[in-house]
Amino acid sequence: MLVQKKVIVLGGGESGAGAAILAKSRGYDVFLSDRGQLHQKYSDILTSRDISFEHGQHTEERILAADLVVKSPGIPDTVPLILALKEKGIPVISEIEFASRYTDAKLIAITGSNGKTTTTLLTYHLLKTAGLHVGLAGNIGESFAWQVAEKDFDYYVLEISSFQLDNIVSFRPDIAVLLNITPDHLDRYGYNFENYINSKFNIIINQTGSDQLVYFRDSEVIASGLEKRNPPVRKWAISLSDTLSEGSYWNNGILKSEIDGVGLEQDFGQLPIKGPHNAINAMAAISVALLVGVDGTDIRKGLMTFTNAPHRLEKVEEINGVTYINDSKATNVDSVFYALGSFEQPVILIAGGVDKGNDYSQIEDLVKNKVKGLIVLSKSFEKLKDYFSGIVPQIYTTQDVQDAVNKAQEWSTPGDVVLLSPACASFDLFQNYEDRGDKFKAAVRNLLSR
Ligand code: ADP
Repeated sequence: MLVQKKVIVLGGGESGAGAAILAKSRGYDVFLSDRGQLHQKYSDILTSRDISFEHGQHTEERILAADLVVKSPGIPDTVPLILALKEKGIPVISEIEFASRYTDAKLIAITGSNGKTTTTLLTYHLLKTAGLHVGLAGNIGESFAWQVAEKDFDYYVLEISSFQLDNIVSFRPDIAVLLNITPDHLDRYGYNFENYINSKFNIIINQTGSDQLVYFRDSEVIASGLEKRNPPVRKWAISLSDTLSEGSYWNNGILKSEIDGVGLEQDFGQLPIKGPHNAINAMAAISVALLVGVDGTDIRKGLMTFTNAPHRLEKVEEINGVTYINDSKATNVDSVFYALGSFEQPVILIAGGVDKGNDYSQIEDLVKNKVKGLIVLSKSFEKLKDYFSGIVPQIYTTQDVQDAVNKAQEWSTPGDVVLLSPACASFDLFQNYEDRGDKFKAAVRNLLSR
């Protein structure tokens, strides 16, 4: 009798549930284990599909008998269970790796420290607007594995985090996009930036000469990383500072692309997304659309009709001439750099939260030139306060979002921008960045009723 191979899925969120469904559909003996509690939605789905699972514990004996383990990106490689699996030589892969083994669809994989979601959504929107049969997955929306099990897309646009790239074996995107690599999540990479860089470069590790890479060439880390690795892939650069004969670049407000002999020009000022970072993201999406053969008219139509996800430089209200912006998704220093670079007006900056090993020197000059007041919204305010004392004229610390917004209003004068762009994770005071952004928006709207 043929013995069924045992797949153990660790973590029972969207990606784990999807991996379990795919494994089951491909005839594996599947067991899902989550140390926390499963969301009711996922336990119901697993039960209805006759997939066995446990939650609230990991039964090590059963897990260590696996032939293959698919691990949630949330579980660090350094926990004892993963170390024990590796010790036994049991392969531990990511859901992205697993799903990619079971689809022939063309894969577009987008990574970077910042801009992944925006670029993934925009690329997906451009392809969909052009009528392609395209799925959206990765860190966003429905699990990739689940879609591979039950849908039949010709293309997938995948948002890929460094954690998913940590456990790559043969994952090979047809088109990879590398937006930027700046220090983030260093707590998961032994506080060693080089480890994090290597993880991001895993996106190209299996690419061949018939695959494509779209990358932001102005990033020193990316440029030198590519030079060092010299991958065989076809490369398409993006630049904000240089004129390129091939690739995409910024030319006095016009985005110019020349990809594989096809050109496109687009006035960036006409697009619904703003700021230099979004010019990069737009050029990345345009490059991909051109590479898959979308025509210029459809690309323009898609660019004009795009709506970005909330919490990314999202305008909340204008009150007494002051514009309130929610950029709660800015959870590292580089994204605050671009957020500040998007405004000419004086800024009252609300920042702070859980510091992931931040180095604020990157934004020091911008803060000095633009920020008229800093409000630190955090349980631990010392690092930001100490760094920016003497650089900004006034600093206020609080743990209450309404208090922060009230203080911002008190300090502001017409023409100012109040910007929530925290440079930190949200977990000290909020459930997640969405919760932080929603509470900020509610606090701003409370000002209207006064
Ligand atoms: P991610 O999914 O990588 O976190 P998002 O698209 O959600 O990226 O954007 C997160 C934040 O990063 C935004 O609020 C914005 O301030 C900043 N950002 C977006 N695109 C870029 C980029 N290309 N380079 C640097 N910062 C960016």
